This record gives sequence, C-alpha cells and structure tokens, in this order.
Amino acid sequence: MPEQALPGKTGRVSMDTGGYSRRRFIGTGACALAVAGLPAAARAVTNYKGHDVIVVGAGLSGLYAACILQEQGLDVLTLEGRNRIGGRVYTLMDVPGKPEAGGEWMGANYARMIDTANRLGLEMLGPDEASDIREWCYRIRGEYILASDWESHPLNPTEGDDRRILPHRMLFELSHKNNPLSGQPLDAWITPEFARFDIPQTHYLKEYLGFDDETIRLMNVVIHTDHMDNTSALHEMRRYAVGEFNASRALANAGQPAWVQIRGGNSRLPEAMAASLNNPVELNKTVYAFEDKGEEVTVHCMDGTRYTARQVICSMPWPVLRKVKFTPRLPARMERAIDEIDYGTSIQVHFLLKKNFWELDEMPGSMWTDEPFERFGVHHRGPNGEATSAVAFINGNEAYKYDFMSDDQVSEYTMRELERVRPSLKGALEPIGIQSCHREVHGGGDWVFWRPGQVGQFAAHMREAHGNIHFAGEHTALMERGMEGAFESGERAAVDALLRS
Ligand SMILES: Cc1cc2nc3c(=O)[nH]c(=O)nc-3n(C[C@H](O)[C@H](O)[C@H](O)COP(=O)(O)OP(=O)(O)OC[C@H]3O[C@@H](n4cnc5c(N)ncnc54)[C@H](O)[C@@H]3O)c2cc1C
Repeated sequence: MPEQALPGKTGRVSMDTGGYSRRRFIGTGACALAVAGLPAAARAVTNYKGHDVIVVGAGLSGLYAACILQEQGLDVLTLEGRNRIGGRVYTLMDVPGKPEAGGEWMGANYARMIDTANRLGLEMLGPDEASDIREWCYRIRGEYILASDWESHPLNPTEGDDRRILPHRMLFELSHKNNPLSGQPLDAWITPEFARFDIPQTHYLKEYLGFDDETIRLMNVVIHTDHMDNTSALHEMRRYAVGEFNASRALANAGQPAWVQIRGGNSRLPEAMAASLNNPVELNKTVYAFEDKGEEVTVHCMDGTRYTARQVICSMPWPVLRKVKFTPRLPARMERAIDEIDYGTSIQVHFLLKKNFWELDEMPGSMWTDEPFERFGVHHRGPNGEATSAVAFINGNEAYKYDFMSDDQVSEYTMRELERVRPSLKGALEPIGIQSCHREVHGGGDWVFWRPGQVGQFAAHMREAHGNIHFAGEHTALMERGMEGAFESGERAAVDALLRS
C-alpha cells in the first residue's frame, strides 16, 4: 500500500536543518561515552572502494549508529527507503499546531536522545507548553461519563481505591500492581527467573491479579499490541518497569518536566542528525536484498542501484524485513523471529476543526470510548493553548478492519461514527488525512510487541549479527523502549561494528 501523504504535503523532505552544522554533532556527548575504552577503529589506509559501513534506515536507531560511527572516523552511508528522514518519528508540519503522528513523548530516562537534541541545539518543551489533549470525557457502553463522576459511576467495575483510576489510565495502573519486574534491572525481563510470566496478559490479570472480565475489557480498549490474549504478560511488565524507571529519573531531576517534546516538532531531531552526517542520507533507496561475500556486503536497492561496504547496520522494522532476501540465508531462529514477531497496529485520522463543538454539549472535547474509534483527541497546540486540530486514534484489534478500506473510506467511516456518537460534531470536522505505520511499505506497525512464549524463544537473540550485518531498531533494545530504545540499539550496533573494523 502506498504511503499516506497528508494534503498539502509536497512528498519531499523538508531539509530545513535550522542551521545545524556537521561539526555540532561531533563532540563529547553520549556517543563518545559509548565508545570510550574501545580500541581506536583500525582504519588502515587500503584501496577499498566501498564504504566502511552502510546503515539502512534513517530512523532514530540508524541515524544514531551513523553519527557514532562517523564520530569515530568511519566512512558511513545511510540509505533510506522513504522520501523523508525520521521513520516512525513524524511531525505533521503542515497541520495547524504541528501534531506528532509518530514518536511523541520523551521521558526523563531518555538520556541518549535528550543529550543528542541538546548537542544539536534543539530546545525541549514540557507537557504544559505542548498543551496537548487536556481532559477526556468517557463513553462506555453507550453512556457518557465525566471524569468527576467515574469513581461513583455504576459502570465502574473496580473496587476500593482502584475506582479513582480513570478509564484511560486503567491499563497502565492496574497492570502495574505487584509488578514482578519492579525494582529489577531493566534487562531482567529476558532472564529465566521471569520466564513463567511469558503467558497471555489476560491470564495473568485474571489469575495473578484477580481482575474480572469487565475490568479487563476496559483495559484492553486502547492497547499498544493487538489484544491482551495475544500479548505476553512479560511484555507489559517490562513496559511498566521502564515507566517506573522514567518516574525515578523524573524525581531525580526535580524541576524538569517528566515528559518532553522537541520545540517545533520531534522530526527536527532526526533531520538535524541527518544534516550532521558528512555523507548525505540517500532517500528513496528501498533495500530489497543483502549479499554478504565475507570481505564485503552488497546492498541492493529497488531502483537498481547497488552499494558495497565492509559492514552493514540494518534498522528496518522486522515486518519489513520479512520481504528482504539475505545471501547467505539468516539462521533458522532469526527467520522465525522475523516471521512471527509483530508490531502494534494503529491508525490516526486527522481533522481540522471548524467550530468549538464542545461548547454545544458542554463536555470535554476529547473522548475515550469503547466505540470503534476508541480515542478522539482535540489538540490544544495554539500559542495560547487554543484548539488547533483533532485526531481519532485507533489502536490494536480495532485497527485491523481499516486494512480493508481506502484512505478516503477510513476518513468517511470515522467521521460518520464520530457524528453518530456525538451530534455536536456535525459540521465541526474536516478530514485532512490519515497516518498509519501499519499501512506503510516501510513501516510495519508502531512498536514491537511479544506474544506469549516469544520472549523465551527470541528475545535474547535479536541482537546477534549475521556475518557482517548487524541489526538495530527499537525491537532489538534490551533496556529501553520506543525512541530511547531506538537510540540504545543504534549505539549497540555501532559499537559492534566498531569492534570489527
Ligand atoms: C503513533 C506512534 C506513537 C509513538 N509514540 C511514542 C512515544 O510517545 N514515545 C516513544 O518513545 N516512542 C513512541 N513511538 C515509537 C517510536 O517512534 C519508535 O520506537 C522509534 O521511532 C523507532 O525508531 P527505529 O529507528 O527503531 O525505527 P524506524 O523509525 O521505523 O526506522 C526504520 C527506518 O528504516 C526505513 N526502512 C524501512 N524499510 C526499508 C527498506 N526496505 N529500505 C530502506 N529503508 C527502509 C524506514 O523508512 C525508517 O526510516 C511511537 C510510534 C508510533 C508509530
């Protein structure tokens, strides 16, 4: 399926580098620390005509690897299949308020990412200033419920103090109870000690935490996998353990916001990283095959071009890698992992707002629901917190049905559903485009997730090189997740490549 472009997009990358210079990346930051103590890369003068390293993918993981390798004096070329930099980090620069359509929030634990942004001269803004979705109203089993009424509402299935937890927080807060990974090292999730939790999350919530079906149903509404039945409890436990680490970093940095974004849009970070590279990132270079001949690797692109390097770092998401040919073939376990490991699905439908519809029914504009559109959020990203645009954001199981709709059908269906559920929305919305990594050729989904049994089978092996090919990407991170996981993986792959160069 072709990539989705929002109306008004030129389809070309905006290379507004904001004045970032190549030299500005090079310095003494986290990348330098990552490679401290390594032997200086053996960059002996040879007649070799290829590159030292080719990085495939100009998302955060690939770009961070490229920056580290360049800093260490290697000749690095980055190939990117899309016509833009950033991968799953994608700010909708042409939509009022510039909402994020991909990686959105950086936690206080995002050390590499924040350090890189600082060194590239980018500014951060916290949730108050980002002034995004503010307050939800809830629509559950056809009934509207205000946040203030939830605790005593008859549709609230929980007991005791849990009744204060608002529906959109239930997944996170209830799953987190008695988390066996709490206080453990961040990589504990792959150790044998916790293997007994590599079971369906639904089973864990019922048998270990004693939640009833309705509580679990509400927890399952907005899920970043596809369904709790198909999600390893270890995956969710790890998510909360990383969240806990973020909270502890936030406490340690008192006075700093716990969550930040890049001022002017998160895409500015990967664009600045790309601009700091000596070899410009080559766009529209979709790689379909790797041929490792021992002394060098040939990378084959869809447009007929070929590139060679001593080593390759491949940061493509795994669902994309299913279609890529490796010579020699990947080990059987790696092939199985690539075939079987999935990413969470989601689809976003973006709208311009033609009127302040919430003034008509006097409820918060944003809705969290068990209706097919799940979440409808009004972005308040104007200079004084004004409403700027809105998004319907569908995650998990519900997102699959949209695979059978064209982009226009997605927008029409969602708008019809929204107007059916909330009459004040009639005439208030103008669809401006959809965004879904799951639908994109170079995407595959939002975040990696682990099905029951997969952690034990695959998690310890995701980082193994195949000959001269190293693998990066958030799916290979051991400690962090999301955007910081991408940085962690890029650093690890770069160090692996340096050790061999
Ligand atoms: C909607 C959404 C919300 C999110 N929110 C958050 C959040 O709030 N916080 C957070 O930390 N994380 C968030 N994430 C996750 C985060 O964005 C990703 O984990 C991270 O950006 C992944 O970086 P990566 O480099 O591993 O992969 P990608 O960004 O996917 O990079 C891979 C690159 O490879 C390219 N590529 C793919 N196939 C080929 C090919 N055949 N040839 C050449 N190039 C190819 C792709 O185009 C892409 O640029 C979110 C993601 C989504 C989608």
